[in-house]
Amino acid sequence: MAGNLYDALLGGLEREDRLLLKDGTVGAVSYRAFADQCARLAGALLQAGLQPGDRVAVQAEKSVAALALYLATVRAGGIYLPLNIAYTAAEIDYFLNDAEPAIFVCDPAKLEALEPIAEAAGAKVLTLDPSGSGTLADAAAVAAPIAATSSRGGSDIAAILYTSGTTGRSKGAMLSHDNLLSNARSLVESWRFTEKDVLIHALPIFHTHGLFVATNVVLASRASMIFQPKFDPDKVMEAMPQATSLMGVPTFYTRLLQHPGLDRDSTAHMRLFVSGSAPLLAETHQEWEKRTGHAILERYGMTETNMNTSNPYDGRRVAGTVGFPLPGVEIRIADPETGARFGTEEIGMIEVRGPNVFQGYWRMPEKTAAEFRKDGFFITGDLGKVDQDGYVHIVGRGKDLIITGGYNVYPKEVEMEIDALPGVTESAVFGVKHPDFGEGIIAAVVLKPGAEMAEQDVIKALDGRLAGYKRPKKVAFVAELPRNTMGKVQKNILRDRFAGTFEAMAAAK
Ligand code: AMP
Repeated sequence: MAGNLYDALLGGLEREDRLLLKDGTVGAVSYRAFADQCARLAGALLQAGLQPGDRVAVQAEKSVAALALYLATVRAGGIYLPLNIAYTAAEIDYFLNDAEPAIFVCDPAKLEALEPIAEAAGAKVLTLDPSGSGTLADAAAVAAPIAATSSRGGSDIAAILYTSGTTGRSKGAMLSHDNLLSNARSLVESWRFTEKDVLIHALPIFHTHGLFVATNVVLASRASMIFQPKFDPDKVMEAMPQATSLMGVPTFYTRLLQHPGLDRDSTAHMRLFVSGSAPLLAETHQEWEKRTGHAILERYGMTETNMNTSNPYDGRRVAGTVGFPLPGVEIRIADPETGARFGTEEIGMIEVRGPNVFQGYWRMPEKTAAEFRKDGFFITGDLGKVDQDGYVHIVGRGKDLIITGGYNVYPKEVEMEIDALPGVTESAVFGVKHPDFGEGIIAAVVLKPGAEMAEQDVIKALDGRLAGYKRPKKVAFVAELPRNTMGKVQKNILRDRFAGTFEAMAAAK
C-alpha cells in the first residue's frame, strides 16, 4: 500500500450520490456531498497556511463537519489530532505545547478560554460548533476546494491520538496512512462489511474506536451509517430496524439490556454487534444472546495498534475472549521481563507485530524504543494468554497486576469469581499498599438492585474457589465503578481512593 488514506477511502466517490450517513442535525449526506465538504474544508486549511506534516488539533463536539475535518486534514497532507471534548483548558495547554499544531479548531463556546493558550503555542485558531458553523465553516464556504489530494507515502503520519494516560504523561501515538488503511481493510474482510451495511455510529470521534474502526470500515466498504451525536439507548433502539450493525463499548450493551424493547424482533434487521475498548462481561454476552439471539463479537485493540484480534464472524464467538489475530497481525505471549516466548495457556505480556502497529510516540524516541522488542513486536502492556483453541484472553493491564506477599494475582481471575456470585453485578479488584504483604487486595463490588451482602459473605463465598492469597482482604460496596468515556474502569481512581486502607486497619488494631 502507498499513498494518501483519503484516496483509498473516498477517492473516486466525488460523483457518487449514494447515501453515506443520516444525521439528526444535517439530515441525509451522500458520499458526493461529504467529499465536497472535505474538499472545501481542506481548501480552508490550506488557505490558513497548512503545510504537509502540520498538525491540526481539534477539540469539537461530534458532528458531520468534525468527521469531514478528519478526512479533509488527511487529504491536505496534514496530521489529524483529535482531543477528548472533556479535556480542560489546562490539559489542552499540555497537548498544544507538546504537539505544536499549526491549526487548532475548537468550539466557539470555549474560544475565550482556549484562544490565548493556542496562540501562545503558535497555532492559528478556528471554530466549529455542534451544528457545523463557526469560523472554519465560514472559511470553507469561500475557500477554493482543494484541487488534488496531497501526495503522501504509506508510512507518513495521518493522525496522532493521545493515549488516555491513566498513569503518567499522555503520549501521542503516531499512526500512518498505511496503519489505518490496512486495519480498515482487514476489518471489512473479517466482519464482512459491504455497501449494503448500515452502521449505528454512536461512539465519540476523538478515540480510535469511533474515529477509525467505525468510520474507516464504513468508508472502505462503501457502506452507510446512522450518525448519532452520543450514545442514547432509546435512539439506538429506534435506529435498529433500519440498521445492520452496531459498534459499541461494553457499557452500550449493559445499558441496552436494561431497555424493555430489546428482543429478537427489535434486533431482527441487525446482523452484527461488535464490542471493544474494555472487557465485555461474559454474563453480558450470554444475556444478550438469550434476549436477541445474537452473539456479540468481541474484539481487542488499542490506540497504538488499531485492532489486533477479533472473535470470528463465522466460528464460535467465545465470551470472555477476544478471538484470533486479524489477517496480517501476529500475536505472541512473552515473559514481561525477558521477552522469552511463552506457550499455550501461559499468562504473559501480549506482544503484537503487523502493518497495524503505530510508528512510535510523538517526540518520545526513548519511550518508543523501550516499548518495542528488537524484532519489531510492540509490547502492549496487556497481560493475557492464548488458549488451546487459539483464542486470545486478556487478564488485565500489566500495571494492574497485584503482587501480594510475593505472589502474582491477576485481578480478572478474582473479578470473575466475584461477578459469578448471586447478587453481584460487577466488581473491580486492585492492589494497594499493605504493611505486611507489599500489596493487599481490595474488591470494589456493585450489587444488583435490592441485593444485600456483607463484606464477609463475599470473602467466605470465595473460600474453596480461590487460593487464600488471591482472596480480597477488603470488600467495599460501591454504587458504580468509575469509568472513562470509553467504558474502561479507572482502577487508578480506585487505588487512590482506597490508598491508605490497610495502614489504617493496622493502626486500628
Ligand atoms: P485505548 O488505547 O484507549 O483504545 O485502550 C486500549 C486498551 O483497552 C487495551 O490495551 C486493553 O487494555 C483495553 N481493551 C481494548 N479492547 C479490549 C477488550 N475487548 N477486552 C479487554 N480489554 C480491552
